[in-house]
Amino acid sequence: MGFGNNACVKFRRLLEDALDGNLSPEEYRAFIKHATFCPACHRKLRGEIMFRKLLQKAFNKKQEELFKDKAQRLIVSIKQMIHQQR
Ligand SMILES: [Zn+2]
Repeated sequence: MGFGNNACVKFRRLLEDALDGNLSPEEYRAFIKHATFCPACHRKLRGEIMFRKLLQKAFNKKQEELFKDKAQRLIVSIKQMIHQQR
């Protein structure tokens, strides 16, 4: 099974689902096959993967800062409590 006419349009329509792992095995095979012989879609796919990686990084960074913030507040609370006990 190939994409036939409008292959690039179909490829781009399946891009999100492909990255989310929502394609059927046939769709997946056709998707990969198209990427191997269409440089434009190959580039598009690589770009999308890069974008997702960056997004993930940004998200994790935010989580990390959120955690630091919580940790900082915890330390301040502990110090205040020690201070009050004196
Ligand atoms: Zn294409």
